[in-house]
Amino acid sequence: MNPLADALVAPLDMRGDAVLIRPDGSEMSGDALHRLSGRIANVLTGVGVQPGDRVAMQTEKSAEALALYLACLRTGALFLPLNTAYTTAELDYFLGDAEPRVAVCAPAAEAVLRPVANAKGITLLTLDGTAVGTLVERAAEAPEEFATVARCTDDLAAILYTSGTTGRSKGAMLSHDNLLSNADALVETWRFTSSDTLLHALPIFHAHGLFVAINVLLRVGGRMIFLPRFDVDTVLAQLPRATTMMGVPTFYGRLLGDARFNREVTRHMRLFVSGSAPLLAETHRAFEARTGHRILERYGMSETTMSTSNPYDGERRAGTVGLPLPGVESRIVDAESGIEVPQGEIGILEVRGPNVFKGYWRMPDKTAEEFREDGFFVTGDMAQIDADGYITIVGRAKDLVISGGYNVYPKEVEGEIDGLEGIAESAVIGVPHPDFGEGVVAVVVRESGSKLEAKDIQAALQDRLAKFKQPKAIFFMGELPRNTMGKVQKNALREMFDDVFTEL
Ligand code: AMP
Repeated sequence: MNPLADALVAPLDMRGDAVLIRPDGSEMSGDALHRLSGRIANVLTGVGVQPGDRVAMQTEKSAEALALYLACLRTGALFLPLNTAYTTAELDYFLGDAEPRVAVCAPAAEAVLRPVANAKGITLLTLDGTAVGTLVERAAEAPEEFATVARCTDDLAAILYTSGTTGRSKGAMLSHDNLLSNADALVETWRFTSSDTLLHALPIFHAHGLFVAINVLLRVGGRMIFLPRFDVDTVLAQLPRATTMMGVPTFYGRLLGDARFNREVTRHMRLFVSGSAPLLAETHRAFEARTGHRILERYGMSETTMSTSNPYDGERRAGTVGLPLPGVESRIVDAESGIEVPQGEIGILEVRGPNVFKGYWRMPDKTAEEFREDGFFVTGDMAQIDADGYITIVGRAKDLVISGGYNVYPKEVEGEIDGLEGIAESAVIGVPHPDFGEGVVAVVVRESGSKLEAKDIQAALQDRLAKFKQPKAIFFMGELPRNTMGKVQKNALREMFDDVFTEL
């Protein structure tokens, strides 16, 4: 038995039909992907990979990169995908911390990484986005038959390093059961079947593109239009072949920015899913007005994969992340006392269920800190639950602003600013303030053509927000800094505006 390989990889061998469709129209059949995973599995074991060893990957998205993930499942190795944006200095940390047996990198990065790999005794192989590199060369010579190694439900399958906006990035250890139970919960909740073709434009180094998208589609025997990256023209060209799409909010915002994206081109679609960052309620409404589809928003994180989702049939409530998935329990507690807050109040969201990870790699203390005694995991997200059980994420606990001793939830202030005529979006942060400890700062993006000034915003908020929540300074930017997953980089903003009050 090997839970994930049996569920996701073995069935591919029976499939002569396409599993992956590339933007140029070329396809890879299930059995071809299965054979490739067997060849790569032989390459891995050939260089000494044993069950439990880590295999790191920092490469462009490709069928071969996906096959490497599947090969890891078959060999019992822990798949360790790394964001392609990481620099060599960052890689040095990850390779030192995870101590992988093998690392697969872009051919262009090989020269820089070679000394690091040699020093750490790591076998370094290469792969680019077009099936070129030493991994593919070796795989071509390796046999395609591979006897999948036995694994248990509790054995680890992958390590995902968290984005690590504060302190060292932590490796979330995910087991076979974590990933398989989550794929099953999503299949059930979102009604995926073998008739589905998913438009896949997400990166595969992150839980969203890797576990939510790929695991679900492999689980049901569906297909993926596998795009190297998100690009409006390509997405519009490929949409007619898809039944479903998963994306980060930025994808949907960009599609709405193009007049060709309309009711006609989306008429045949069954489902649009959004997650990884908050989807503005306004984007949700604009999307429905334009296409007639209500985006289904879900919430999760590297440590828990998916925890909540809006319903498929019931009401998809804009601005909320829906209800806990089947098998997942949630509660909102007071950050300090850990005691559940009354319904409707804001607190820290905690979750428990088969989706919750096994702990942080080689950080037992950090792991212990983030779990309650009864097994609930402290997500670090502030949230509230409405009377019908729908959860709204109010922001990360560490983004909470405490000004003059009062709690200011950035999302509440952002919501008020975003609702003003002429505003595209905003980000609210707290920065050091000599009197108040932290002062509220709003960074605002205007809609094109808008002449709105800081004083207009301040005047508009006068009657809408308590004084202590009103921004003490407002700055305008052309766009907010975001990472690849569409998350606003509040750390970068805090650094940028760090001294606005202390300099006064
Ligand atoms: P990551 O581990 O990189 O997937 O980041 C997880 C974090 O992304 C969560 O803890 C949330 O803060 C945020 N996140 C994910 N999905 C949503 C969502 N639908 N709405 C708001 N925040 C989200």
